[in-house]
Amino acid sequence: MDLDKLKEVLAGEPKFRLKQAYQAIFTDLIADWRDNTTLPPKLREKLDVECPLELKATLFGSKNSESLKILLELADGGKVESVLLKHADGRRTVCVSAQVGCPLGCKFCATGMLGFKRNLSTDEIVAQVLFFSRYLKRNETEHDRVTNVVFMGMGEPLLNYDSMMEAVRILNSKDAFNIGARRISISTAGIIPGVEKLMREDLQINLAISLHAATDELRSELMPINNKYPLEDLMKVVARFARAKNREVMFEYLLIKGINDRREDALALVDLMRIELFMVNLIRYNPTGVYGPSNSAEIARFKNILSENGINVTQRYSFGQDINAACGQLANKNQ
Ligand code: SF4
Repeated sequence: MDLDKLKEVLAGEPKFRLKQAYQAIFTDLIADWRDNTTLPPKLREKLDVECPLELKATLFGSKNSESLKILLELADGGKVESVLLKHADGRRTVCVSAQVGCPLGCKFCATGMLGFKRNLSTDEIVAQVLFFSRYLKRNETEHDRVTNVVFMGMGEPLLNYDSMMEAVRILNSKDAFNIGARRISISTAGIIPGVEKLMREDLQINLAISLHAATDELRSELMPINNKYPLEDLMKVVARFARAKNREVMFEYLLIKGINDRREDALALVDLMRIELFMVNLIRYNPTGVYGPSNSAEIARFKNILSENGINVTQRYSFGQDINAACGQLANKNQ
């Protein structure tokens, strides 16, 4: 799918043709121009040749699974993974990738171990949501649609800022997916210039920080990017973001056995979370071979320390371990 090419083909047509084409792609969710009824037949034939809508992906999981994963094939042979999470309350969240691999090399992350190949284009990001939108239309109730998008898949979205932001605008556009900005979240390992840029955007999108350690010493060990953007600077810019947007910011914290789940780790985290709009989301670590997960008692103890100190804390239910689709597990293993 190539949206620039689509605009190019429709450049000589009346303006409303582009709107009709967007409607066909993003609302009617057609996968073949021959299924469209609004555009003139000649134009459909041309689009069929020049802008095919087929998406190539392998699907893991089944209709009844609470999470589904795809391995999306890119035009240059690259592959990325995306996950659909089906929440009990009806939300349908797509977790999208922003890069092929990731340059940040976090020690606990399967994607980080792959190294970095390249940034995804806007179309390649949008295609991930489009695939699951089509899937839901075909397989679930007629009105089931993607309600939320989180940039928490492979790669660091703020290092692919322009393509990521253009994709966000398409997700948010009334002419395309019409997903509210408040239902779109960008998760970063702490790229400070990217957070500053995001702060200047006119959209009320959510920010999440992959924190995973509350001291520079431990964080730099687990996440080398912390050497470049240390905690004190990061926390200052995130506080400015939260206040400027008046939005809660979520700090993701994977609990890794014996590494970041000790009492002193919890107390250090309490110290960082003194700002009202900050909240912590605890996630049980999904083993990727290097570290092990904290057990339930250790997670409960950690959570209690935060709660007792007045920190707003939740614990994320972990989807998708069975298909290697859980947090930190996306590494094209099912190829
Ligand atoms: S945790 Fe995120 S930023 Fe770190 S290596 Fe994995 S994908 Fe990259």
